[in-house]
Amino acid sequence: MKRILITGANRGLGLELTRQYLERGDTVFAASRQPDTATDLHQLRDQYANQLHLVQLDVTDEASIEAARQTVAGLTDRLDVLVNNAGTFPGAGPEDPAKQHLGGLTAANALTFLHVNAVGPLLVAQAFLDLLKAANKARIISLSSGQGSLTWKASGEPYHYSASKAALNMYMRALAAEVGTYGVISVLVDPGWVQTGMGGDTAMLPPADSARGIIRLTEQLHAEENGSFVTWQGQPVPW
Ligand code: NDP
Repeated sequence: MKRILITGANRGLGLELTRQYLERGDTVFAASRQPDTATDLHQLRDQYANQLHLVQLDVTDEASIEAARQTVAGLTDRLDVLVNNAGTFPGAGPEDPAKQHLGGLTAANALTFLHVNAVGPLLVAQAFLDLLKAANKARIISLSSGQGSLTWKASGEPYHYSASKAALNMYMRALAAEVGTYGVISVLVDPGWVQTGMGGDTAMLPPADSARGIIRLTEQLHAEENGSFVTWQGQPVPW
């Protein structure tokens, strides 16, 4: 029985990952900004009362990260998997999508994306590192994007989203070099173009397929893959 922490677990891929880990019999700490109104998580808790813990966590709020760490540390002495899933895309939050076009770019908008998509996941990993180190071969899975690949980049927009995922890649690659010495494996995963609030209705991939692939690859990781960037099917993504 594994113990899993998932950020942004109230909807989209995070919710689907939560559902599938629960179905496997694992224990999930499902973190979200507003757990009180996370209706899908409440339904899952009715079904999996002994396996599911709802945790308040806003990745941009350091007090919230610390409070979440204390809550989880009060419930478990180890974490086997951290899924840094929470993220934001232009139009998916209060950020103005027009500010990701050349001519409308602002520093404030850039910093919002960097905070949620790059700095937040790094601080979450830092906060939960002691619990991860206490497990045998823990994994840190950070949801990146092909948009964060310098090799694949062929369009301008979305400027800040793409740059934030490239920054996430660097942060997590740096982290991997350190946590590898404790036996922790940290990888970046492009989940594909997934049918979620972020991916939209025309996306190719059902969340269930992407989540299943991410869980499978998490189970099959080897030490030599620490610090790698792969698709949900385990194929390497060029930096
Ligand atoms: P959704 O937009 O459907 O869900 C995003 C989740 O992140 C929500 O739970 C949201 O919470 C949460 N979130 C946003 N900001 C914060 C914050 N400050 N603190 C905590 N949680 C926050 O996205 P997806 O499920 O599609 O995406 C999951 C991950 O996969 C993201 O990192 C995304 O960048 C990546 N990805 C997705 C792709 C796709 O096609 N869907 C493609 C490539 C990458 P709330 O409900 O409170 O807003």
